[in-house]
Amino acid sequence: MANVYTETLNRLIEEFGKLPGIGPKSAERLAFHILKVQPAEALGLADAIRDLKNKTRRCEICNNLSEQPICQICSDPRRDKSLLCVVEQPKDLVSLEKTGACKWVYHVLGGHIAPLEGVEPEHLTIDKLVERVRQGNIKEVIMATNPNIAGDGTALYISSLLRTTSVKITILARGLSAGSTIEYASGKILTDAIIGRQQLE
Ligand SMILES: [Zn+2]
Repeated sequence: MANVYTETLNRLIEEFGKLPGIGPKSAERLAFHILKVQPAEALGLADAIRDLKNKTRRCEICNNLSEQPICQICSDPRRDKSLLCVVEQPKDLVSLEKTGACKWVYHVLGGHIAPLEGVEPEHLTIDKLVERVRQGNIKEVIMATNPNIAGDGTALYISSLLRTTSVKITILARGLSAGSTIEYASGKILTDAIIGRQQLE
């Protein structure tokens, strides 16, 4: 088939097609939409993408997404900094925050330990987490890794490292069904899991 589109249109279709959940038809539809709208609207999208990539960084304390050296949660004086909740990804933090039940601070690991995928403990922010706990101001570490094999394994690995400290280690209660993820759990189930968290032995 002859190439019916211009080079630039083809390029945009190709870029949209790389996005998750966007098939070839949708990519084409989005590209034609961009072609149709006013330049200011289309360039607004381009600017938003550029700004996101240029301005987003990691919080120096907790590794959460931030535009400042220290994120909004770590800077919030109303947070109880003696409670530290450990999550795999910033998306998990967002799901927990939406429940409104969390007044603690976080530590974002950047994933879970998965040797078969080449993810070893040193690829995550575990060293930094242990260092934070060793500083001695944290009373409880709440493990909110995903309730599946990789998440549980990561939580157990971390708790074994923290055993030499006097910190209390808890894990979210299992109203969260095994094998599920924090990101897609409902607010009600997450809230129950937060309230019913149990000591990790
Ligand atoms: Zn932070």
